[in-house]
Order: sequence, then structure tokens, then C-alpha cells
Amino acid sequence: MHIIAKHLMKSFGSFQATKDVSFEIEKGKLIGLLGPSGGGKTTILRMLAGLEDADSGEILFHGNKVNHLPPQQRGIGFVFQNYALFRHMSVYDNIAFGLTVQKRSKQEIKSRVSELIELTGLKGLEKRLPHQLSGGQRQRVAFARAIAPEPQLLLLDEPFAAIDAKVRKELRTWLKEMINRVGITTIFVTHDQEEAVEVADEIMIINQGILEQKGSPIEIYQHPETPFVASFIGESNQIERISDFRGFEQTEHFNSKAIIRPEFVEIGYKNEIAYLSAAEIGTVKNIYFRGTNWQVEVEVKGQKLYAYRSLELETLKLSDPVYVLIHRVYLFNGQNHRTIEN
Ligand code: ATP
Repeated sequence: MHIIAKHLMKSFGSFQATKDVSFEIEKGKLIGLLGPSGGGKTTILRMLAGLEDADSGEILFHGNKVNHLPPQQRGIGFVFQNYALFRHMSVYDNIAFGLTVQKRSKQEIKSRVSELIELTGLKGLEKRLPHQLSGGQRQRVAFARAIAPEPQLLLLDEPFAAIDAKVRKELRTWLKEMINRVGITTIFVTHDQEEAVEVADEIMIINQGILEQKGSPIEIYQHPETPFVASFIGESNQIERISDFRGFEQTEHFNSKAIIRPEFVEIGYKNEIAYLSAAEIGTVKNIYFRGTNWQVEVEVKGQKLYAYRSLELETLKLSDPVYVLIHRVYLFNGQNHRTIEN
């Protein structure tokens, strides 16, 4: 389903849960709504579903305004974090539920449910009740039940929140494969950046009722458009006086906030740095072992920043002087942003 949201506003009392949110989603995409708790993700999902009325703004499905359509007429399937399976119904009956409501023939229901049981890997569990399933299996039943009536849009609200870390990782890979196979436009809410980056075709970063940025995980990671996005996705250093660093002197008049990812900071002893003339000299303040590399805190001209260092290189020592070379900086100045490479 092709979706357009225009200037969506929603307040609860005097609190603005969404402030002028606009976006467009192409048919068949898997979209992650990502952001901190209370940012407005669920409110956006509920407005799309018709469970919450927008105060103003428009929602268009296939170019048609749906603001006044009730949820059951919007062609949507849902999965929520608490499973919400019917407790006294078997796996089979749970999956068949939406089809029964649609008054499909017995034969049709049987073949569709079997197809979904096969697709979601639930074969052999048809007769079980929800309490006889693992969390991961319950979530797969919820997914099968949601897509059984062939919705054009699938909305998932923190679908894996109640599941332990290992199964959660398996389920999200499973979900991505499944959605690609079924080809339904899907929007899922998460506050887990790793989950969003791993699963979604595109991510929408929602913070304090505002859509900060929408783009592919790579775009968002490499070209953050706001300081919030830069610090929310990936690791980052915030630098007060970037113009103190060689190669960035011209930013003095830009009066901006600078963010540097640790992976764009090269540190090393004199013989290890190719472009010494572009480097600053700093001091090693702290070293942390991270399993795959070292995280090193260095101080340059009174400013501290983090860098990574390969385990294969000589181990740096505390208080050693090191050369520090910054390769990329994100600058933010009000609404403007730019990326400077060195
Ligand atoms: P979380 O990750 O915690 O679920 P979220 O980004 O999904 O957060 P929402 O659930 O959309 O955020 O809530 C946004 C804000 O609106 C929150 O501050 C919440 O308390 C408030 N809110 C949501 N629903 C209601 C309601 N029915 N009445 C009053 N306030 C509400």
C-alpha cells in the first residue's frame, strides 16, 4: 500500500504527541519507526490504523483520504508486543479468525491457514493453545493471524519487546525474510536502533513528536541531518571547538555543533600516521577493551574524544602522546547541516 501522511498533529490535553509529521511510504517497503520512549511512535501507528484520530492533517492510502474510515475498513493487520492471541483458541483457530470474520468458505480458510502454518514454520503446533507455545512461537502465530486476511498494510508495535535477546535476534531475521516473501508494506515500531538498522529498508527517526529524518539505514548513519539523529544512531563525539583541529579552521565562523564518529578518528604513534601534517597531537587518557577493538579516549587541546584502535596494532599506553587525525565531521547549525571530510 502506498501511504502519504500530511501534517499530522495529535495532542493529549495540552501535550503535543505529534507535531506536524509528514511522510510518504512506497508500496512494499519495510519501515522502522525508531526513537526514544514517549517520542510519538505508537501515536503515529495508531493514527495510521484508525485507532486514534489526528487533530489535523491527512492520511492517504493509495491516494485516497482515510481519516474517517474505521480500522476494520483500512485493510490493515496488527501485531502488538503482548501477542494478544485468543487464549482459548488453538493456533489454527487464531490464524483462521480474520478469515472467519470475512465469511470465507471453509475450504478456503483451510487452505489459507495451512499455507500460513507452513510459511511461518508452525507445522505440528496447530492444535496447541497459546500458553503451550514459546514467546517466539506465539509471535509467529500473531504474525500469521495478522497477514491471513491479506491486509495491504501491516503494523507492528514493538513486536519483539517481550522476547529474550537471542530469540529476538532470530525472529527479526525471520520477519525480514517473511515480509520480503509476502511483499506487504510494513511499519514496525522499535526503540532498539540495532533492530531498526538490521531489519528496515527505511528508518524514520521520531523524537519529541517530530520526524527528525527518514532514509535507508546507511543514509541515516552516514548523513545524519540533525544532531539528535547523529547521536541517536551509532557512536558519536560532540566537539565544542572543532576549529581547533587542523583541516577544520574554516568552521570557526560557522558557529555550529560538531559531531564526529569514533570510526572517523585515526590515532597512532608517529610512524603509523600517513598524513602527519594534518594531525594534531593529543594524550591518551583512557583505554577500554571492546572485544573486537580498543576504545581510546584522547585529549586534544583540552577537548576529549573517543577513537577506535585495532587490536593488531601496538597497544597504546596511558599518558602517551599520540597523533590524532579527524577524517569526517558533521556540522549542525540550526536547520542547516553539512559534512566535512579531511
Ligand atoms: P514508547 O516507545 O514508550 O511506546 P512512543 O514513542 O510510542 O513511546 P507514544 O506512545 O506515541 O510514544 O506516546 C507519545 C506521548 O503521548 C507520550 O508522552 C504519552 O504519554 C502520550 N500519550 C499517548 N497516548 C496518550 C493518551 N491516550 N492520553 C494521554 N497521553 C498519551
